[in-house]
Amino acid sequence: MLGYRGLTLSFRMNYQLIPKELRPIAEKVEARQRLSEADALTLYLANDLNALGMIANLVRERKNGNYATYIHNRYINYSNICILSCQFCAFAAKKRDAHAFEYAIDEIVRVVGDALPLGVTEVHMVGGLHPTLKKEWYLDLLQSLRALGPNLHIKAFTAIEVRHLAQRIFRMPIRDTLETLRAAGLGSITGGGAEIFDPVVRDKICRGKETAAEWLDVHRTWHSMGGRSTCTMLYGHIETLAERVDHLRQLRELQDETGGFTGFVPFAFEPSQSHGILAQIKRASAFEQLRNLAVSRIYLDNIDHLTAYWVSLGLPLAQVSLSYGVDDLHGTILEEKIFHMAGATTPQQQTVAALEHAIREAGREPVQRDSHYRRLNGASRAGQPNEPELVCA
Ligand code: SF4
Repeated sequence: MLGYRGLTLSFRMNYQLIPKELRPIAEKVEARQRLSEADALTLYLANDLNALGMIANLVRERKNGNYATYIHNRYINYSNICILSCQFCAFAAKKRDAHAFEYAIDEIVRVVGDALPLGVTEVHMVGGLHPTLKKEWYLDLLQSLRALGPNLHIKAFTAIEVRHLAQRIFRMPIRDTLETLRAAGLGSITGGGAEIFDPVVRDKICRGKETAAEWLDVHRTWHSMGGRSTCTMLYGHIETLAERVDHLRQLRELQDETGGFTGFVPFAFEPSQSHGILAQIKRASAFEQLRNLAVSRIYLDNIDHLTAYWVSLGLPLAQVSLSYGVDDLHGTILEEKIFHMAGATTPQQQTVAALEHAIREAGREPVQRDSHYRRLNGASRAGQPNEPELVCA
């Protein structure tokens, strides 16, 4: 038993509520033993969602108590022009396409600058693999955002964008590219682009994209430089459950090696605009999304935080997921484009009040966090020039 601000949390499970086939796994979790990939597959095949939730909740409360966090952030996509054409992507465009866009640095800085008085602590910025933007453009962009204020965290670029910049634009090794970006203001890289690591699935849904080993290597390099990042999984398309488990295994192994992942953010595939091999895919059900979150929480024993991406789940289901292993509701976002161009019908932003209300209603304690999931104290929350206070382990 452990107390969190007057709330007593029980770290024992009621085994009578857990079906027989899951009890050995629940016992392992209670004894803090590592689960095998076979265990993870058994969890994925289980239909007793509440039993999964109970096991996931044990892990969640051990790691994060009753807290549930969110970040006050601003999304911006600098351009959707991309040299690749991933089959699942409704965001990318070629220069000639009517929906192609490319913002000037001044526009990006103005939009982010307008968000700062609202209390935003992070700009989250990704784009396509742009064929013609120059090294100087990227560095100028980062330096201009950095100049907005020392407390704005710049979270930008997926691992595949980093490789694109290194190989085609900067023409430098990955490490040197990351060092150059960091010197210009980069605070952390994003977790996007992981999709599903299996090479056969990858070839069908995002041919030409970096391999799993390449994605992992960018994060390994960033972590070895002292950087932190998040990790993701795009599921609910043509992958098998075994391929999901294999994806989680590779993330867990890299985390054993580096400890650099702060949180895991799974996304369900958004099928509204899909075509070709993905045309017949149905959106992952609420049951499947909760099960995926719970299994991820139970298996990824070395990643501290699990985020429910409300853009994909919708805030009501993200709220429910706080009882299925989730301890973070992502952020205010203030204009999401990638999922919405794929047909998502969720809002494009949330207010702090809406996120806090959702968390409180679920019986959790809301806390604003920074980009590394560190809980912020009151002064930092109010947008004062304080360094975030590290109040979690
Ligand atoms: S997923 Fe990324 S790399 Fe693939 S087409 Fe879309 S923007 Fe380009």
